[in-house]
Amino acid sequence: MFLKAITTGSVLIGIVILLFSLKPTMNLTKETQQKNGWKVLTVMIFGFIAGYTFFLWRTQIAPVGYTELSVGMILFGGSGFVIIVVRMSEKSVLFAERIAALERFNSLHDSLTGLPNRKRLLDKLGQAIEVSKSSQSSIYVFLIDLDRFKEVNDTLGHHVGDKVLKHITPHLASAVRKNDIIARLGGDEFAVVLPDIDHQTAERIAQKIIKIMDQYFYIEQHRLKIGLSIGISSYPDNGLDTDILLQKADVAMYVAKRQKSGFSFYDPDQDIYSIQRLKLSQDLEKAIKDNQIDLYYQPIIDLKTHTVKGFEALSRWKNSDGEFIPPSDFIQLAKQTGWIRDITRNSLERGIKQLAQWNARGLQCYLTINISLYDFKGQELVSSIENLLSSHNVNPNTLVLEITEGSIMTDDLQVQSTLKQLNKLGIMIAIDDFGTGYSSLSRLKQLPINIIKIDKSFIFELMNDENDAIIVRSTIDLAHNMKKIVVAEGVENIETIEILRNLGCDYVQGFYYSRAMPADKVELWLNNFHDSKVKKLEPKSERRRLKL
Ligand code: C2E
Ligand code: MG
Ligand code: MG
Repeated sequence: MFLKAITTGSVLIGIVILLFSLKPTMNLTKETQQKNGWKVLTVMIFGFIAGYTFFLWRTQIAPVGYTELSVGMILFGGSGFVIIVVRMSEKSVLFAERIAALERFNSLHDSLTGLPNRKRLLDKLGQAIEVSKSSQSSIYVFLIDLDRFKEVNDTLGHHVGDKVLKHITPHLASAVRKNDIIARLGGDEFAVVLPDIDHQTAERIAQKIIKIMDQYFYIEQHRLKIGLSIGISSYPDNGLDTDILLQKADVAMYVAKRQKSGFSFYDPDQDIYSIQRLKLSQDLEKAIKDNQIDLYYQPIIDLKTHTVKGFEALSRWKNSDGEFIPPSDFIQLAKQTGWIRDITRNSLERGIKQLAQWNARGLQCYLTINISLYDFKGQELVSSIENLLSSHNVNPNTLVLEITEGSIMTDDLQVQSTLKQLNKLGIMIAIDDFGTGYSSLSRLKQLPINIIKIDKSFIFELMNDENDAIIVRSTIDLAHNMKKIVVAEGVENIETIEILRNLGCDYVQGFYYSRAMPADKVELWLNNFHDSKVKKLEPKSERRRLKL
């Protein structure tokens, strides 16, 4: 059947070529005909063979010798055909191999950064463990989590987040040896496997990674400092298999994050942290449901008049064991779980009610309440605040909403329009922790911001650190030029207050005056206010007792 098909093919092709070759030849001159002689002859031979083959095929009668000829030709044509088929199949095999290799690569690598993924990392770690078993060497596993990636994603958009990840990849890779494995586990999590090193070297590499990342990255028009936390586990000390090593590095990473220490080696004593965390989140959920998140108030002082200008409402929570959990812990947890909106509702309800009581008792002050980016999702924020203010008969001008710098600089249109609606109601907006986020001057101008709160990290060392002094001075100037009020957070001593006064800072807040206190302690504190710590600053004639 195969031979027949090839023979028929040759016959038909031969006939077609013959007809086409002879047709133009008939009308040509003698010279041209001679020129084409060989061509015509060849075609005729082919035509003959083809015709005869056709005849043979139809009649099944063939002279001796012709069969060899046709078989020879068939073999000749067939081998060409075979070569073509072989070449094509080679190519398709190659192509298929390439596709398979690409698929294999993709299944083992992260498409954004091109780094090995979790699966590849686990394979490589497994292999390294096998090698270490015989060589009796150690392996160190780093779990790296970017500190401010979520903020970047939420405020500047995922496309900037992706660019950040791509951008930092070569920087991370530059800190380790060529043969070390660096992988992206997903999101903003990376891991590094460092075979055959000791504790000191691991520490040195962790420091190197932190140093490399301690710089500004320029992505689109943004100047970003990302920061990271590294958890470190080691084979064989902390575990003998891949999963355990990664899990221990994860625990250590949370410790590094919590302690803001940059990196942390796995410590079995801190492993309860993950169990604690689970308990914490169960406890927090219950506390929110049972309305047990309390609100404390920290005074804000006007440096020019030495009067109490307002209070910042700060959430306080005692867990089931009666311990105070720092807001930095439970607010973070609440943001991760979405309960932050319940905490905001609680702060607004308690705070506005408290403000109404103070107003009713003659204390004219403002109250500032922290809100987060998550509170802007949905439509209720503006209407719920409006309802609370009107039901307690509180002037909107006495309410300030604080939003961290990172959150307020978002290009999310809903956030911007909500801020404008709130501002229209007369509510003031403050940027909290100013100096720690990514402010853009143009955004600062566009948004309805009334108050800038300089982050306490710039204030703590104001007396000793020239750079902090420069930052604070220029922030105050900038804010004043933009007609905004400046509050300095974290004032702990009189010297800092003096400096801030000289720099023209409007208001201050800090432990020097008071920590956040429960509402029932505010009256006593106010009455003692002028008689104690502020004596030195205040002219005697201006002293008076504030009454609630
Ligand atoms: P924040 O809004 O910047 O609040 C100021 C923090 O600085 C408070 O910490 C306050 O106790 C602390 N602080 C004030 N003066 C000093 C000082 O002189 N020295 C030192 N070392 N610290 C000082 P706190 O209460 O632990 O709150 C931490 C953060 O938790 C707050 O920072 C705020 O971002 C967040 N937070 C607290 N309550 C709430 C809340 O109800 N809702 C939201 N969304 N966030 C909250
Ligand atoms: Mg605040
Ligand atoms: Mg702050």
